[in-house]
Amino acid sequence: MSESSLSYVTHHADGPWQTYLSQVDRVVPYLGHLARWVETLKRPKRALIVDVPIELDDGRVAHFEGFRVQHNMSRGPGKGGVRYHPNVTLEEVMALAAWMSIKNAAVNLPYGGAKGGIRVDPKLLSIKELERMTRRYTSEIGIIIGPHQDIPAPDVNTNPQIMAWMMDTYSMNTGTTATGVVTGKPIHLGGSLGRVKATGRGVFVTGREAARRINLDLDGARVAVQGFGNVGAAAAELFAQAGAKIVAIQDHTGTIVNERGIDMAELMPTLTQYGGVGGFKGADKADDEAFWDVKCDILIPAALEGQVTVERAKRTTAKLVLEGANGPTLPAADDILADRGILVVPDVICNAGGVTVSYFEWVQDFSSFFWTEDEINLRLDKIMVGALKRIWDTADKHQITLRTATFAVACERILTAREERGLYP
Ligand code: GLU
Repeated sequence: MSESSLSYVTHHADGPWQTYLSQVDRVVPYLGHLARWVETLKRPKRALIVDVPIELDDGRVAHFEGFRVQHNMSRGPGKGGVRYHPNVTLEEVMALAAWMSIKNAAVNLPYGGAKGGIRVDPKLLSIKELERMTRRYTSEIGIIIGPHQDIPAPDVNTNPQIMAWMMDTYSMNTGTTATGVVTGKPIHLGGSLGRVKATGRGVFVTGREAARRINLDLDGARVAVQGFGNVGAAAAELFAQAGAKIVAIQDHTGTIVNERGIDMAELMPTLTQYGGVGGFKGADKADDEAFWDVKCDILIPAALEGQVTVERAKRTTAKLVLEGANGPTLPAADDILADRGILVVPDVICNAGGVTVSYFEWVQDFSSFFWTEDEINLRLDKIMVGALKRIWDTADKHQITLRTATFAVACERILTAREERGLYP
């Protein structure tokens, strides 16, 4: 348990902020003299709560809760996505912002960590209402975002169109064409090739490297994927191309299983028709809880936080867990996976491909010179492989999990910057 407690956070033992705090506590013994600064990581630098009122299509007015949290900016401007989900809370956004600080430092991007969100079910809004909500939210958080301050991007339920509205709103308010204020934009607005699939690609690249190191052959390996959005689907396609069998997929529309492997080329075109994988005819339906019992070699939780519980960690047959989602594994479940000899590639490195290509996009916007998709993918591969190697060496040296090693590498970078900058005033 962490010593520090913040008056504005309710204590949820399995909540994401508590999960993050216990991950930080585990790294303290490896921080040496920098441990003196660790309290910095246990509270966000700045948290903004905004009211987002919009006129609905029927003339009524609705209010939504919006957040933007800047967890740490010692190494550079804030960076991290914006999530639209009915369960968004300040506590969740704080944890997601903190994980962005760790992630950005783990891959050595010149960014701090930030995250935003609106507590809303976007499926209940028309496209015009979604646009009005996005624009009002952007305007409200406009006082703390900017190309050199804090750069939002897509996350759960947000996409390039939403980034285009954010870029336009910020640009209108500042009298500029500020392409660098958000990443994950459409290509015509300064977006980067390869960005949409980058997070899934990073999951594949780190998974490929981890599999190689534990002698797990991807050819014929059985893969189970939870969450089939931008991250899970892109990762599954790459694993299938490498010869793996996608034996189970779960999303909000249901769970499908096929031990011979789900045909990706058949599945992908049906996703828009059914709103997810649930209606696919080329696999059997299963109960959602049965997903965790499907025989697999690689498990990819790519949905939301807290999915890998103690109970599920005891049951999984996977040898390798690749965290496509942010915060999918509870700390107690993490210990069980480690005791069972199951290797976890943690979120803070595994899903860092998205923000890495966001960084490429931001650099391209400033230089107004754009790279080919091959260049993007090659650079992404190189950065992810290099970062994972550094983390692996740290884990070997101290005999610690990859998660604690990633935190060790990242926290050392953040707290060194913090110390060198010194306390103001
Ligand atoms: N939302 C993504 C994440 O959790 C990407 C953030 C970004 O590109 O800034 O890493």
